[in-house]
Amino acid sequence: MSQNKSILLIYTGGTIGMIKGGDGSLKPFDFEKLTSEIPELKKFDVELSAIAFKKPIDSSNMNPKTWVYLANLIGQHYQQYDGFVILHGSDTMAYTASALSFLLEDLCKPVILTGSQLPIGIRRTDAKENLITAIEIAASGNTPEVCVYFEYKLLRGNRTVKVNAEHFEAFDSPNFHALAEAGVHIKYHQKVSCIIEKPLKVYEQMSSSVALLKLYPGIPQEVVKAVLNSNCKGIVLETFGSGNASTQIKFLSVLESAIYNGKIILNISQCLAGAVSQGLYETSSQLEKIGVISGKDMTTEAALTKMMFLLAQDLPTEELKTQLTHSLRGELS
Ligand code: ASP
Repeated sequence: MSQNKSILLIYTGGTIGMIKGGDGSLKPFDFEKLTSEIPELKKFDVELSAIAFKKPIDSSNMNPKTWVYLANLIGQHYQQYDGFVILHGSDTMAYTASALSFLLEDLCKPVILTGSQLPIGIRRTDAKENLITAIEIAASGNTPEVCVYFEYKLLRGNRTVKVNAEHFEAFDSPNFHALAEAGVHIKYHQKVSCIIEKPLKVYEQMSSSVALLKLYPGIPQEVVKAVLNSNCKGIVLETFGSGNASTQIKFLSVLESAIYNGKIILNISQCLAGAVSQGLYETSSQLEKIGVISGKDMTTEAALTKMMFLLAQDLPTEELKTQLTHSLRGELS
């Protein structure tokens, strides 16, 4: 364990910050009294500071503005701290982790998101272990990127998906190995140190001109048209298997004219693991031909937030398309 490291905890809301009040109801935990509530934290050689959202939010209320706010908060305190732990509801944690990975360029310190399935004040809670280990990982400096730590696994933030609403093991990263596993010791599978420390660049905008269209057999043409003819410039298209979709002319022609009208369509698989491979089947060759972009093995969370991030930069269309297919923060293989 590293000596004298300083860690900033940011509490946004969610189950992890709840304790039982005198009347038995759950209420937000007072982060000012963090170490008295969790005495285990006193055993760390870590200086802990905490910032809590004035009004903690259930993560279902998370949005791009708050992602930018969080990124700025990290930017403002970047020099002062060795690492950051963000306490967040689990429901949209994978989106926040993905968004922050794009908003924070040349990040050289760990930003670890964690949460819990049971409130911190409940006997069988998973919150304490998640919080304590997340702090230990942040202080180690071994993974200077945006990560999710949950139930003994440290995952790359923009590869993470929430896979279970019931089990303590709520997250997975099907297309990328875990960065570390916590057993008796924390075993890092990849230790990265930032050799050339470029200054952190914090981006301050996310576009809201993004839609998600999940295909399913029998999807009405009006639904496809409504999304593609909306004001949204970027569309993440969730297709079947390795990026396949209907070959019906009326479906393809709506996609083709949307692309002709300047829309960017990014193909992501509905499968959790594996990648889009346009052209492997006849049912994806047409998509390739009309200019749909392959999102390869990105998660939907990473694809949506990457689209929001890139569209906000007003890049020339060809540059934007190139960036979508290249790994910016390790989000695709
Ligand atoms: N609904 C909660 C949230 O995402 C669940 C949790 O805290 O894990 O904020």
